[in-house]
Amino acid sequence: RELPGDPRTDLFPREVLHACYTKVLPSAEVDNPQIVAWSEPVSELLDLDPREFERPDFPLLFSGASPMMGVVPYAQCYGGHQFGTWAGQLGDGRAITLGEILNSKSERWELQLKGAGKTPYSRFADGLAVLRSSIREFLCSEAMHSLGIPTTRALCLVTTGKMVTRDMFYDGNAKEEPGAIVCRVAQSFLRFGSYQIHASRGKEDLDLVRSLADYAIKHHFPHFENMNKSETVSFSTGDEDHSVVDLTSNKYAAWAVEVAERTASLIASWQGVGFTHGVLNTDNMSILGLTIDYGPFGFLDAFDPSFTPNTTDLPGRRYCFANQPDIGLWNVAQFTATLSASQLINDKEANYALERYGNKFMDDYQAIMTKKLGLPKYNKQLISKLLNNMAVDKVDYTNFFRLLSNIKADTSISEDELLFPLKAVLLDMGKERKEAWISWVKSYIHELSSSGSTDEQRKASMDSVNPKYILRNYLCQTAIDAAEVGDFGEVRRLLKLMERPFDDQPGMENYARLPPAWAYRPGVCMLSCSS
Ligand code: AMP
Ligand code: MG
Ligand code: MG
Repeated sequence: RELPGDPRTDLFPREVLHACYTKVLPSAEVDNPQIVAWSEPVSELLDLDPREFERPDFPLLFSGASPMMGVVPYAQCYGGHQFGTWAGQLGDGRAITLGEILNSKSERWELQLKGAGKTPYSRFADGLAVLRSSIREFLCSEAMHSLGIPTTRALCLVTTGKMVTRDMFYDGNAKEEPGAIVCRVAQSFLRFGSYQIHASRGKEDLDLVRSLADYAIKHHFPHFENMNKSETVSFSTGDEDHSVVDLTSNKYAAWAVEVAERTASLIASWQGVGFTHGVLNTDNMSILGLTIDYGPFGFLDAFDPSFTPNTTDLPGRRYCFANQPDIGLWNVAQFTATLSASQLINDKEANYALERYGNKFMDDYQAIMTKKLGLPKYNKQLISKLLNNMAVDKVDYTNFFRLLSNIKADTSISEDELLFPLKAVLLDMGKERKEAWISWVKSYIHELSSSGSTDEQRKASMDSVNPKYILRNYLCQTAIDAAEVGDFGEVRRLLKLMERPFDDQPGMENYARLPPAWAYRPGVCMLSCSS
């Protein structure tokens, strides 16, 4: 019998008022679910014995088909700005939190099944996920972590054994695809939208914003709980008003600044590796500054500032590669506006957080690019000239930087040989373009020669930040094609490979190659919002 509030059956879509979550049990149908892959480093975080993954009931537990002891599953309520427009309540439409594990280091990790069935937040959709997008989320979460970029993690990936129907956006036809469930892991899945939703509902729910802010500070930003009144910060707003913001007198303001700075750092690190998120809506912005929600993401192949992996975002390109830093600021502004509307911070504090976003982004981005080029100090002109050249000649972003470390800081090298180390990425170039590159390499070598380090030292340092292996779309697609016919070997191989993206891995050179021609055929590797 259906009872209101019964987590087994009370799944009809609705506005959930005055609450941050709804108890709901996983309900995806399964038929002989199978484990596709699992992450060893994440199992270590959770103190899970590798033998657990051999248990015959493991796929049943991690598809939600068998209940786990001691868990009280729930789905979160949140809202968000989608493509710049307030979209109201969204919420965990297909993610269900199982609970938290307190590991031996006293770290708290939340486990969440994505694709385990409907919740009150599913709106018009089915609460399910397909193998294709689940493989992408699973592999990319782990790949990002190994690149040193903050991200939600993925423990394991199981197939449900059931088919899921999806409309294929590029030809409008419906297609049956195998269903799958990723177990995501993070210290928190709270998003900007988790706060926005309650503020949007007016006076009655403002207390919820405060409670949820207190919760986040207590568990994830405990250093703001007991601040001492020592740090007073002056800042200039750019006009005559030299205001003073005292971050020690208001923990919410200090928190807003840290959220802003973490977001800035995150996006700077994305720009460094050429990652484009694809759907930077405010419901996909983590308050911990984690990369969250892997949908139509993509890594740059050829450098292209307007790269937009999400076909839903065409022709507007709001979330293209080069817009991400500005979008991050826009999103932080929505977050601080929420805190202002809830009277947790004042306008001055809100503006200050935005200013700190800008400063933090520039500091981190400049440091990252300086390190990528192995320069003794930041050189704006040299870097923008390089990016400009790369865009003109459609140079592969990852492979270029990886090869750049082979340049010797030797001003006596003849013009004929200057481009030799970069030969594999500077393809089919006319005389004029070749000259542009020779000129750039000359000024690069000139800059390097003023540094105190040796070629070997610089190469080691550059290779530690410029990955050799990156999760290119076509690599994902190859693993997906094999997995869809029951072969999970390639998913597992990519998972292992991407654990050490900066190491030369003998025998794996093929995985560092430029995308093959088939990757650009219509329909292949095309990605849209939710699948
Ligand atoms: P996204 O664009 O992936 O951030 O998703 C936006 C909203 O749609 C979130 O509330 C998701 O939980 C929800 N959503 C996406 N796909 C599904 C699905 N297949 N079933 C239910 N809800 C979904
Ligand atoms: Mg999302
Ligand atoms: Mg999504």
